[in-house]
Amino acid sequence: MEKSQETPLMRQYWEMKSAHTDKILLFRMGDFFEMFFDDAVKAAPILGIALTSRNKKSADETPMCGVPHHSVGGQINKLLSAGLKVAICDQVEDPKFAKGIVKRAVTRVLTPGMVYDAETLESSKPNFVAAALETELAVVDVTTGEALFWRGLDAAKTLALLRALPVAEIVTRTPASENPFDQELPKTGERRLISRYDGPASTHELVRSGAGLEVAGILIGYIEALEGDARLRFLRPFEERFWSQRLEISPTGLRHLEVFETSRGERAGSLLAAVDRTRTSMGARLLRSRLAFPFTDRHELELAWSKVEAWGSRHRDLKLVREALIRVGDLERRLTRLGPSTANARDLRSLQSSVQAGLDVFALIDSVVPAFPHLESLPPGARERLLELSLKIDRCLLEELPLSVRQGGMIKEGVRPELDEALKYATHGQELLMEFEAREKAATEIPSLKVRYNNVFGYYIEITNTHKDKAPKHYLRKQTLTSAERYTTDELVELERKILSSQTRRFELEYEVFESLKAGALAATPDVLALAQRLAEIDLAASWAQLSLERSYVRPVISESGRLQLAASRHPVVEQKLGMRFTANDIELDRGGCLLLTGPNMAGKSTLMRQVALSVILAQSGGFVPARRAELPLFDRVFTRIGANDSLSEGLSTFMVEMKEAAEIVGGLTPRSLVILDELGRGTSTFDGMSLAQALLEYLLGQQGGYFFFATHYHELTQLAALYPQVKNAHMAVTDRGEELRFLYSLRAGPALKSYGIHVAQLAGLPKSLIRRASELLKSLEADGGHGPQMSLMDLSRPAEEERFDDDIDERVDPVDPVADAHREIARTIRELPLDQLTPLQALVRLQEWQSTLKDSGH
Ligand code: ATP
Repeated sequence: MEKSQETPLMRQYWEMKSAHTDKILLFRMGDFFEMFFDDAVKAAPILGIALTSRNKKSADETPMCGVPHHSVGGQINKLLSAGLKVAICDQVEDPKFAKGIVKRAVTRVLTPGMVYDAETLESSKPNFVAAALETELAVVDVTTGEALFWRGLDAAKTLALLRALPVAEIVTRTPASENPFDQELPKTGERRLISRYDGPASTHELVRSGAGLEVAGILIGYIEALEGDARLRFLRPFEERFWSQRLEISPTGLRHLEVFETSRGERAGSLLAAVDRTRTSMGARLLRSRLAFPFTDRHELELAWSKVEAWGSRHRDLKLVREALIRVGDLERRLTRLGPSTANARDLRSLQSSVQAGLDVFALIDSVVPAFPHLESLPPGARERLLELSLKIDRCLLEELPLSVRQGGMIKEGVRPELDEALKYATHGQELLMEFEAREKAATEIPSLKVRYNNVFGYYIEITNTHKDKAPKHYLRKQTLTSAERYTTDELVELERKILSSQTRRFELEYEVFESLKAGALAATPDVLALAQRLAEIDLAASWAQLSLERSYVRPVISESGRLQLAASRHPVVEQKLGMRFTANDIELDRGGCLLLTGPNMAGKSTLMRQVALSVILAQSGGFVPARRAELPLFDRVFTRIGANDSLSEGLSTFMVEMKEAAEIVGGLTPRSLVILDELGRGTSTFDGMSLAQALLEYLLGQQGGYFFFATHYHELTQLAALYPQVKNAHMAVTDRGEELRFLYSLRAGPALKSYGIHVAQLAGLPKSLIRRASELLKSLEADGGHGPQMSLMDLSRPAEEERFDDDIDERVDPVDPVADAHREIARTIRELPLDQLTPLQALVRLQEWQSTLKDSGH
């Protein structure tokens, strides 16, 4: 960039810009914030504004663009969400009084984590700035005061947390290009900015609450470096989170299960959207955090469920409290909005009304449910202090408030005597002069006495020559005219001074009162944050209760036997879309067991498996479950491997993604893991895929515990049930009348009879000739009589030990498989058995035959 054409203004610009080369500099000029050079070129398309130029006529054009100062908030947000940083260079003196060029200074520095206006953020989502070192992670949300840290992590865990948390910015000691997170974090979806900070670690007292960890020091140091301690006053002490106390859901799991957003990146259609009945932003954020970090502690869960149950049993109170909650608004972000010097009386009023509405919720609970169990209580004295604060602000502030804090119009009468006086003189100056005139007329008995004003002498009393002898002694002569004398008095001088200075005085005093009210509110930060936190808890419990009543959810019971049992279970999201058309299912699985699901495409396999995972997440988040009865073991991990996903954008093939996810499951499996495997091995040839799927399942079944749901199109795998008692075959029922296929969405025991793939293709509208050809091919393959390549691949002998799989696979492939043949034969006989013509004894004989056939074939 050329620094030519240096006017004093541009010199001032460069002075500012050179200290903020990595940011877009918004340079205040009159009513606009202007951007120049590269900043303008970069920002204009993001902001959707025209790129123009300064020095248009000269050879040296300077690219520029600008935004009006009053709408700068939204524009800054656009720049931040594009991953840019912004420095605001404002005019710091009134241009009217400026000698030469107006003084300017960088007043705020904003980054994606250090937002300009918290109210423009999505209210149900935190906006974290994170700092990560090898084993430590700290995050803070400067807009809500939340501050958390973890220690004892490793790179994978840190990455998983960074992916699960709504992190807008990551602060590290290394440059972005060398940063491991830069490579690992997904490029799609939300953009995260990596900021390098190599300044000193902070020694602020907050760092102590973060166990003095270096990572906390760096994070706080970074925030201090940008904006001093203006933001720090809102931060709560750091809270330690423990990796092991969280139901671990892999980031891919959160994505696959569409917990926060759908695969298209939309909130509508996600679990969060389906279950969110919160009435406050704090409640919504807490719900989000619960779903990302469900409990694993039984006591915490029982307590959370008890709260939901308590609210759910008090319909009327629930309704009243939820109505009261609506009025609370975003208490946390309204508080932090008071931080910057741009805060105005409207911000203060909106905080006050939130505080008052929050206190009203507590008062309501006291009156309607005096002995409400488990009610979150506020710290001692907080209610009284907050009430006092709210009353004080309410007593002082007018209803209609201006944007400016320097031009009065904010404070009511009766707040401060000096202000009342200033107000009186400022607004009633003329009346006071008339009163004075009347009083003087009466005292001097001169009816023609006048009080007047001119620019040279100011206010004066004029007495015509006829009456000038009656002028009292304390009248001081100011001017003599031919026909009259002009006087002043001490009182008039004082009146004049008051009238002339009262406007300025009024502005000053109002500003003072505003500032002191604001200081009072800021001093109440810990109380306000405590109120916000308690309200969030109340709101969340009430939200779960509301949802349970609305959609008949049930309180889960922690399973003592280790058996998972869901009676009449539904999918929380699909059910809301389909309403009565959704078919509920009973699902049962023992620890260490596997439900092997087969059935045609579109039959509801994925839905069923996902609803188990989502029910577990809901339950362990402290909510109720969409079922008639739910007995659930306490899980510590949820793994999913579901269909193809969008990791192609990360340069991984579908098959590689499948295998990576399988490796994650194998590596991280615990006895209390829930594993959802929706298709595995589909990304490669049938042989490879099926072998891998079977081997994985066998491997998993060989481990201690775990709960496995496995949907597959490899029908051959259903034969595993004969070898592993813990494998239960199940299928989603369909009826097949001639050409027509009907899905019943009902879970039945036993394997699906056939694949119906061609039927589904027909339903999807593929051409008749194509369908006919596929049917012919299928027939000829089936006519192969079980000696086709797919069947022959199956190795249904148990692996003697795990190492067997290191052997050369080819050696183990047996082209003729007697077990599979026997199964097929038995299946065929059962299918054709005329049940209505059999006696019980005949049936028993058949059973015996089958048993011995199985034994003969090696089992
Ligand atoms: P594919 O093998 O092709 O992945 P799938 O068997 O996994 O299919 P799902 O994706 O679970 O099938 O379900 C297909 C559709 O069927 C769902 O989008 C939903 O509309 C409907 N469906 C699923 N389960 C039910 C149910 N229990 N009751 C009513 N409709 C359902």
